[in-house]
Amino acid sequence: MTTGQDRERTAINDKYKWNLTDIYPDVTSWRVAKEAVARRLPDVRRYQGRLGESPQLLADALDAAWGLDKDVTRLAVYAGMQADQDTREAGPQGMQQEMQQLSADLKAQSSYLEPELLLIGLPRLEAFIAAEPRLHAYSFYLHDIARRAAHTLSDREEKLLADAMPLSASGHNIYNILANADFPYPTITLSNGRTVRVDSSGYAELRTLPNREDRERAMAAFFGSLGTFSRTYGTMMNANVQRAAFYAKARGYTSHLEAALDGPNIPVSVYARLIEGINRALPSFHRYLELRRKMMQLPDALRYHDLYAPLVAEVRLTFTPEEAQRQIAAAMEPLGREYCAVVQRSFDERWIDFFPTPGKRSGAYSEGGAYDVHPYMLLNYLGQYNDVSTLAHELGHTMHSYYSNSTQPYPLANYSTFVAEVASTFNEALLINRVLRDRTDPAIRLSLLGSFLENVKATVFRQTQFAEFELRIHQMAERGEPITGEALSRLYLDVTRRYYGHEAGICIVDDHVRHEWSYIPHFYIGFYVFQYATSFTAAETLSEKVLAGDGEARRRYLAFLGSGTSKYPIELLRDAGVDMTTDEPLDFTIKKMNRVMDEIEESL
Ligand SMILES: [Zn+2]
Repeated sequence: MTTGQDRERTAINDKYKWNLTDIYPDVTSWRVAKEAVARRLPDVRRYQGRLGESPQLLADALDAAWGLDKDVTRLAVYAGMQADQDTREAGPQGMQQEMQQLSADLKAQSSYLEPELLLIGLPRLEAFIAAEPRLHAYSFYLHDIARRAAHTLSDREEKLLADAMPLSASGHNIYNILANADFPYPTITLSNGRTVRVDSSGYAELRTLPNREDRERAMAAFFGSLGTFSRTYGTMMNANVQRAAFYAKARGYTSHLEAALDGPNIPVSVYARLIEGINRALPSFHRYLELRRKMMQLPDALRYHDLYAPLVAEVRLTFTPEEAQRQIAAAMEPLGREYCAVVQRSFDERWIDFFPTPGKRSGAYSEGGAYDVHPYMLLNYLGQYNDVSTLAHELGHTMHSYYSNSTQPYPLANYSTFVAEVASTFNEALLINRVLRDRTDPAIRLSLLGSFLENVKATVFRQTQFAEFELRIHQMAERGEPITGEALSRLYLDVTRRYYGHEAGICIVDDHVRHEWSYIPHFYIGFYVFQYATSFTAAETLSEKVLAGDGEARRRYLAFLGSGTSKYPIELLRDAGVDMTTDEPLDFTIKKMNRVMDEIEESL
């Protein structure tokens, strides 16, 4: 475990801390701004029942609603980042709660908009858009509401569905409490005598230990303890699947998958194609598993508890923040001078909060919600290659937000999840390409190439395996089959053994692995994880074109960064140069994976 949090925030040089005064000079100004916004909230209601009167009035109403949304978001972003700086402080936590209330109030005030717009109907809305230039920014939004009309219910029914929301979240809520607070996680003693608790973060560390018996013990203890609650986990998952069934049925969708993908308007065939493609690519995955066995110099078969162990003897590459910045700036050169100038601004103008400090939120993120300001990044930087890669990743999100915020009007700026991980993964690809160019030391190259393969394993194969498991759970429910812990574990073991080539002896998947599904929180979001895989393949394809020096590819990629949500995600990516309704991006990624394995095998 890292002990990076021992340095107080006040002991850290300002240049490594984000500068929140770009949003508000201080908390007092935030409060003044918040009260002014709260006073404006009732403005939205003034237009109720009158949206169809004239194009100008409709524009006034939408300007009022979206203008408030922009200001509420700015307030919330500031409160959230204040809270993340030091989660122990009560003040910022209170500010965050105030913002949750204000956001809910805004939602309530504007809840009449969509049903009323649907009543007006698309032909009339289109005539309004043609007549009033201020409505151009809302054209996508208005068309999208009309597109979903067949699945939108009456006012009263919509209200009923909204009221059912909190109770439909029970499965997820109970899971969170059990997994994060109440679960009796086991304790084990490692070969060095150290006693550790195997909760989910402990498990994530323990499965990477170099000692094989330790890894095996940790995995058996963790999965075994999950197994003793199998009936409970199955019941929570069933509640979650029934929720999907309820909403899909209420809105008239033919499947749970169709209901989930309709929001971002993604064809269900994209999901099915990914799963088929990955199943076709399993021989390449098995090649990777064999390679891993060889690199780890295991005396016998690879086992499931070997999958997270270091691939090669540790190569310690360390980077100061300045070195990381230099490396990343060099890596981003293929994107052109303008892109690099903004990257430099993010370094020079304190958009980044680098170091872990006591009470600071863990992990990393990019926050692009302050539309009129600039994006921010939170890191817990410890100077490893991984940390540099995380900075490049978050910078990808930041640049996506920067370009979209400065190119699009507010209603079109906020990009969707399906495209969100493309820009971040794209930057990781640029970084690894640059670092590989600069390093000739075979051990370092091996370690970098290995980390690329690890990424493909974790992001493309494992997430698709999850996506397939998830789809099959929902299909079981659609057929009326019971969703129990036992049924889910049987299904999970079956899918996992196929992916890892258990029968052929490529990787032995022990019986206790059947319980792994129960600790993955993403299954409660519903058809989410496949986007990790699709984003990765899209980013690999696009970055390869840009790295090849294709000027047109670069122009299209930069245009994509500035496109926000001006079209549906599939169209945006097609414009950028990759068609997610084809096999191209996945095939490309698998080919690259095989090239990397060729190089590793040669150097071994
Ligand atoms: Zn990300």
